[in-house]
Amino acid sequence: MFLESGIENSGATPRKESLQNFLENSPVGIHIADDNGIITFANKAELDLLGYKEGEYVGQPLIRFYQDHDYFDKLYQKLKNEGFLKNQQAKMICKDGSLVDVMISCNFYFEDDKLIHTRCFTRDITEIKKSENLLHLLNRAGEELAATHDTGEALDKIIKLLIPSFTDMVVINELNADGYGNLLKMGHSDPQKMKMAEEYRKNHPINLNHPYKGSVGYSFKTGEPLLIQNFTPEIFNEVNVDDEYVKILKDLSITSVMLVPMQVYGRITGVVSFLSCNPENIYDETDFNFVKSFCNRMALTLENTRLYEEIKKEIEERIEVDKKKDEFISIASHELKTPVTSLKAYTQILQSTFDENKNIQAVEMLSKMDKQVDKLTTLIVDLLDVTKIDKGELMFEMKEFDFNEMVKEIAEEMQRITKSHKIVLDLNHCDPIIGDRTRIGQVIVNFISNAIKYSPGGDQIIIKTSCGNYKVKLSVLDKGIGIPKEEQPNIFRRFFRVPGKSSYTFPGMGLGLYISSEIIRRHDGRIFFESEEGKGSSFSFEINSHS
Ligand code: ADP
Repeated sequence: MFLESGIENSGATPRKESLQNFLENSPVGIHIADDNGIITFANKAELDLLGYKEGEYVGQPLIRFYQDHDYFDKLYQKLKNEGFLKNQQAKMICKDGSLVDVMISCNFYFEDDKLIHTRCFTRDITEIKKSENLLHLLNRAGEELAATHDTGEALDKIIKLLIPSFTDMVVINELNADGYGNLLKMGHSDPQKMKMAEEYRKNHPINLNHPYKGSVGYSFKTGEPLLIQNFTPEIFNEVNVDDEYVKILKDLSITSVMLVPMQVYGRITGVVSFLSCNPENIYDETDFNFVKSFCNRMALTLENTRLYEEIKKEIEERIEVDKKKDEFISIASHELKTPVTSLKAYTQILQSTFDENKNIQAVEMLSKMDKQVDKLTTLIVDLLDVTKIDKGELMFEMKEFDFNEMVKEIAEEMQRITKSHKIVLDLNHCDPIIGDRTRIGQVIVNFISNAIKYSPGGDQIIIKTSCGNYKVKLSVLDKGIGIPKEEQPNIFRRFFRVPGKSSYTFPGMGLGLYISSEIIRRHDGRIFFESEEGKGSSFSFEINSHS
């Protein structure tokens, strides 16, 4: 029919009959419309796509078959202006009233500048559109999962995305550490049916021991995903399934099923069931591939969330333990302070009494006792300082003082109590500085006593000062045991002591450097060290000379 109305053969083109045959049987939909937009020809593929008989389609205005008339007009205008349309998407109306996504490409046929007709190719893009939608869904779900660390909240959002646009019912089961399948989340477009399914699951845990093929337990056990396109409860006729279950399946009117395991690094962590209750929505391979990718993503995110929650819990527990430890230290150090102060006073009274009575042996023993009381006092003072740091109550009295003079005083004092080491001073001129003399002195005492303690073979301890650019710097160098590289990052942490034999050999609580670092920090200074295991260490600080 149309061949008479315009399509001509010329030269090398095939014979008329074969060209007509080609157009009529082309797997792509083709139609021709005249200059009034009336369809004059449609091939079999186009009629099949829309479900019309030739008489119901040919002879009709083309616009009738487009869902959006304004959009159709726009396309027609574009076709007129540009002479062609390439890959334009549209929705066409099928005979049964449903819509189909198509991609159209058209051009004009002119004769002597007169428009004779338009010819169009119509391709069905339902599958492409479906894949596009599923990809969009997958990305949205990925974003929802990534945006929250609350598993329950993320799953609620995902279920809202999936129901009802993709499926009618979703059941997410997790494999617990005890080996039991646990219902994590369930969603159904009909709340009544959802209640019924939840009630059933509460009383019927997943059978992981002897699961039958096609059950959730089977997917748990084997890790095999399963697509049952046309599901009927009778599928279970051959296995021993309780009547209640079959009744539930019938009541839910399930028509199509997909079971997909969630796997993380090859380990099955759960199974997700997708259930369609709509005879129109029969799952196909595209859906199946989508849910497999979807469950992979979900599995990984759920695992990450689980790890995050585990670590968070662990940190919270540690914080709680630390809090209790701090409270204990605070109470213990306060309670110890008073008896130790009295002990010191009584030791001194006894010392002078025995001294008057010339009881040399008792005086010597009391002197040793006095030294031990002093050690105890130092420990208590350190603990009290830690408590003060925690509570932000470490007070500073900033005054001008001669830095080198203080260093000399401390060095002399320390030299008096050590015979094994020689303290050598290398002091460079410094103008008076502003700071808390006692607290800075406490840092220097800590550096020197550590240098003595951790170089048991004796040798020199060098104290170096240098000043300039409104800064003073002090370093204490020893040739002792040094600090292993891997332990160095922890050295200023509270209660940290280099682990191993040395922590038993040398007494201490791991507080001196922690307190020192806080004192230097409060002077806006910098505390640092260099150390090599077996060779020695140098501990330094640098502060502004006018803090
Ligand atoms: P304490 O000496 O009471 O344990 P510190 O906080 O002063 O506590 O020191 C923390 C740890 O750093 C020490 O336990 C020790 O392992 C290491 N350390 C400190 N100074 C030196 C040093 N000069 N040489 C080797 N190790 C040191």
